[in-house]
Amino acid sequence: MQPFYNEQQTMLATTVREFAAEKLAPLADAVDTLAEFPIDQFRGLAGLGLTGMTVPEEFGGSGGGYRDFMVVLEEVAAACGSTSTVLITHVSLGSQTINHGGSDEQRQRWLPALASGEKIAAFALTEARTGSDALALETTLTRDSDEYVLNGSKLFCTNGAVADVFSVFTNHDRAAGHRGVTAVVVEKGTPGFTINPQHGKMGMKGCATAELVFEDCRIPVGNRLGEEGEGYRIALKILDSSRIMIAAQCLGLAKGAYEAALSYSKQRETFGRPIATRQAIQFMLADMAIELDAARLLTWRAAALYDEGLPHGKEAAMAKVYASEAAGRIASKALQIHGGVGYFKPSVVERIYRDQRVTEIYEGTSEIQRLVISRALIGEL
Ligand SMILES: Cc1cc2nc3c(=O)[nH]c(=O)nc-3n(C[C@H](O)[C@H](O)[C@H](O)COP(=O)(O)OP(=O)(O)OC[C@H]3O[C@@H](n4cnc5c(N)ncnc54)[C@H](O)[C@@H]3O)c2cc1C
Repeated sequence: MQPFYNEQQTMLATTVREFAAEKLAPLADAVDTLAEFPIDQFRGLAGLGLTGMTVPEEFGGSGGGYRDFMVVLEEVAAACGSTSTVLITHVSLGSQTINHGGSDEQRQRWLPALASGEKIAAFALTEARTGSDALALETTLTRDSDEYVLNGSKLFCTNGAVADVFSVFTNHDRAAGHRGVTAVVVEKGTPGFTINPQHGKMGMKGCATAELVFEDCRIPVGNRLGEEGEGYRIALKILDSSRIMIAAQCLGLAKGAYEAALSYSKQRETFGRPIATRQAIQFMLADMAIELDAARLLTWRAAALYDEGLPHGKEAAMAKVYASEAAGRIASKALQIHGGVGYFKPSVVERIYRDQRVTEIYEGTSEIQRLVISRALIGEL
């Protein structure tokens, strides 16, 4: 446990760690091998009230802050990377878009079932020709009386193959730049909305990635979040905060790898002694522990700024880029410490090594995070 956790966060960490050891870790290899959405694990997290973690109490959530959610994610990700991606996408992308972008009526309409885990949320921004450059969206939104008509497609939508409620970013006026982006909610089963599961990921195999296709898909005007043209602002706000939770996920992945390596190094003997007695191994473990703590402190700072309603964009980007890249270095060292056995399934470090890689890509690549940080440092020239 961390010295800066309050009593409630310490209890939360203990509860989630015990749940994760019993219900997530034993199934993590199967989730990965079968590329199976961890539905029972998700329901278990819902049973603990964690699927509505940051949703206000009046809309069925537990009204927790991002520091609380960070505590949860570290424990979940340490046990099962895929389950942590599912949870982040549900809570800090899908549900938070409705929470921040929606009216009270919309929040009442969608959030209680999402907070309870009865329904699953997804967030659809990326398209085939636009990932980092979110302004280049090609999915169109056209008004027709009291309806909108959507046409286009989205890629890489996490939870997409199983989700019920999708926050979708569209373009109603490409000439208007960022003022042309509008966010809407599309529910599964809407005519003209097709979901095509995407297979073949390197890691995070359980998170039900999908392509979404909209062909003359009609939704009520009442499904629009905010005003026309407010979608870009909503997307940036959500990504600025959610990437703090990707950093928290990286702490968990790094911790899982570090703890496995520490334990293995004490058991594995070569030349008559445990490898943990060798300075080469000790220094790797020391560097892993330093990087994990540094990442945790950066992430805690960003989450604290967010919880206090203070500017946090630069700090969130710093936490994400550092924690994701540190998790990569830690996973690599952990695999090295395991020697050949670390290269084979069902080694925990083999899975974490693959799961970690996408954390440097999704919710803004490391290059985009460095752009955000350097713009904040240098300002307009
Ligand atoms: C497993 C997985 C799950 C995902 N889940 C979701 C999801 O739920 N919802 C969703 O909307 N999206 C999701 N994504 C998409 C993800 O957010 C994008 O892949 C990511 O933002 C990068 O976009 P891109 O793939 O189009 O890469 P590109 O934008 O094409 O970038 C390609 C390369 O160029 C670099 N680059 C781009 N622009 C610049 C620049 N200006 N300066 C320097 N370098 C630059 C990038 O850093 C990268 O290295 C997911 C992706 C994956 C792999």
